[in-house]
Amino acid sequence: MEILSQDIKFLPGVGPNRQKMLSQELGIETFGDLLEYYPYKYVDRSKVYQIRELTGDMPFIQVVGRILSFETFDMGPRKERVVAHFSDGTGVIDLVWFNGGKYVKQNYRPGRDYLVFGKPGVFQNRIQIQHPDMDEAEKVDTTAMGMQPYYNTTEKMKKGGLNSRALERLTKTLLEKLKEPLAETITTDILASRHLMGRDEALRTIHYPQNARLLEKARVRMKFEELFYVQLNILRYASDQRRKYRGYIFNRIGPLFNTFYQVNLPFSLTNAQKRVMHEIRKDTCSGRQMNRLLQGDVGSGKTLVALMAMLIALDNGYQACIMAPTEILAEQHLKTIQDFLRDMPIRVELLTGIVKGKKRQEVLDGLLSGDVQILVGTHAVIEDTVQFARLGMVVVDEQHRFGVAQRAKLWSKSEQPPHVLVMTATPIPRTLAMTLYGDLDVSVIDELPPGRKPVQTTHVFDARITLLYEGIRRQIREGRQVYMVFPLIEESEKSDLKNLEQGFEVLRQAFPEFRLSKVHGKMKPKDKEEEMERFVKGETQILVATTVIEVGVNVPNASVMVIFDAQRFGLSQLHQLRGRVGRGADQSYCILVTNYKLSDDTRKRIDIMCETNDGFRIAEADLKLRGPGDLEGTQQSGMAFDLKIADIARDGQLVQMARDEAQRIIDEDPTCQSTKYQLLWNRLKELRKDDSNALWDNWGVIS
Ligand code: ADP
Ligand code: MG
Repeated sequence: MEILSQDIKFLPGVGPNRQKMLSQELGIETFGDLLEYYPYKYVDRSKVYQIRELTGDMPFIQVVGRILSFETFDMGPRKERVVAHFSDGTGVIDLVWFNGGKYVKQNYRPGRDYLVFGKPGVFQNRIQIQHPDMDEAEKVDTTAMGMQPYYNTTEKMKKGGLNSRALERLTKTLLEKLKEPLAETITTDILASRHLMGRDEALRTIHYPQNARLLEKARVRMKFEELFYVQLNILRYASDQRRKYRGYIFNRIGPLFNTFYQVNLPFSLTNAQKRVMHEIRKDTCSGRQMNRLLQGDVGSGKTLVALMAMLIALDNGYQACIMAPTEILAEQHLKTIQDFLRDMPIRVELLTGIVKGKKRQEVLDGLLSGDVQILVGTHAVIEDTVQFARLGMVVVDEQHRFGVAQRAKLWSKSEQPPHVLVMTATPIPRTLAMTLYGDLDVSVIDELPPGRKPVQTTHVFDARITLLYEGIRRQIREGRQVYMVFPLIEESEKSDLKNLEQGFEVLRQAFPEFRLSKVHGKMKPKDKEEEMERFVKGETQILVATTVIEVGVNVPNASVMVIFDAQRFGLSQLHQLRGRVGRGADQSYCILVTNYKLSDDTRKRIDIMCETNDGFRIAEADLKLRGPGDLEGTQQSGMAFDLKIADIARDGQLVQMARDEAQRIIDEDPTCQSTKYQLLWNRLKELRKDDSNALWDNWGVIS
């Protein structure tokens, strides 16, 4: 590894300028960094096309032929466009230069054979290639050219002459310099059983592939390696946690749980809820700390499961806490829980930013003395100086924003860590869950309470809005209520985006006979609450809002969700919003309103929303459309090393394979002491040291 940690400035071809540029633009400091800067695409340069085969929509291609003649067009003062008519006998194309034409005319001669490389396009019905790469045909042997790698560069780098070609040359110089085979990082048993290419060959092939088949093998190998160490890290951590922390044992099902279940619970549990309760029971009796992720679509009844888990903690003499991402949600939870627990002798308190002064002190005192049994709060609770007497169970709601680091803070709340139940209504594709929440056990509620009718979703162009209004009128006259959502107000935005204020005015004029509420994030919490309350009580029929209502709000009588400028919302957001309706017995509707100009991506998002209510399918589609980097939570997860080549959305099978392999090794060698796997443990240590996310080091997972 020594040579790979050498400063990049020692590479021939890298002077002070390039050193600075590589470091600033790409973060490349060492030989190793350059080696791991992988091409983002390849072009097969062993194939030479005939001109008659070319079409305007081909990727980069190459042809061999002759320049028939040059033509020059004036394009304003001191600017000219030079066109070379070029033929290989099967057809004629135009080669076009918008600058540097003079040089071209001087250096490329009609009558000579050239190898021309570039991307064909169509202009005025003729095929042309703009700014092609030109080489004299007799000087290149195309069969030896193989696949040409393309590296991402920045504008600044291109201006400084450090384009993809230049990076290709640097990498080639480096590979030639690395005479010794590069050290292997995967044990031979895994290489053999998974049919993986060796590391040295894979790295050389990735930068300099001979053919597509070998390239594919090399990429699979490097992707596997990346994913494997991510999984090894997670599973190693999970296993370490298990050994390090004992969990409180809740072996009693006591009067609180029983009273609730037999007296207060107004309906029977769904089978899925029963199954999850069973899993939680098992965890909390095991003597190990529970770390469980509860996935279930909006409205599937997770809150109830959470409440019952908390009651078990109470019955065993512990306190419980449920945390929501916003104050509105926390308040809603409080209300739900108080309703459920009516007439039961349980002290439930709320702690959010707006609980202040004397009341706040009372709650804090109650927590410390143990009088407060259930605390409902925002995530601020864990940041705060809040201390509990005996915190035994923590429920974290709606948490794609609650990564390992945040969970770790809970540990410090008591000597022994409480059991943790993380609930998310945004179903996470399995492969992503393995990475984001790879240390958690997963429960799924895959069944909605009985009697729910699936929400019907339609797409409407805003030109037909008056028809939509008629439909809404009918619903309201039948006693229903309606949500109307606008994208967030952004002051700087000059687009045609209807903001909430404008929209509200328009709607007020459109529905003079009804009462409207308006809620958005910039309102004072108290005003917001009052407006929400009016809608909840049915005093207003239409709630015009921004995404503040995205999560949690529960008004069973609301049966229509209208989302304006739906193209502005991501899939999971749309799905969350839709989940606000369909909570009562009536047929509910979700209307996605857009203008006529839809991008491909928007089209796909709208289509999938109209097609399915299945949160998992939507999550999969979302991951594919957006890529994991964009998904909320990936940054905070603290789990993944930066993925340079693997793609969690596309490489699902490899994620699974890496997971299986890592699990096998942890099972076989839980304390990471076996010399058989020394190679892996050393490499993991090395990677964790390089990882910019210091989280892991603070925890000293591997000592
Ligand atoms: P989630 O938090 O998963 O979005 P909630 O817990 O808010 O879902 O439940 C949605 C609604 O369904 C609530 O009004 C809740 O009381 C109700 N509910 C939950 N479980 C059941 C059940 N087994 N049968 C009938 N209704 C249920
Ligand atoms: Mg909920």
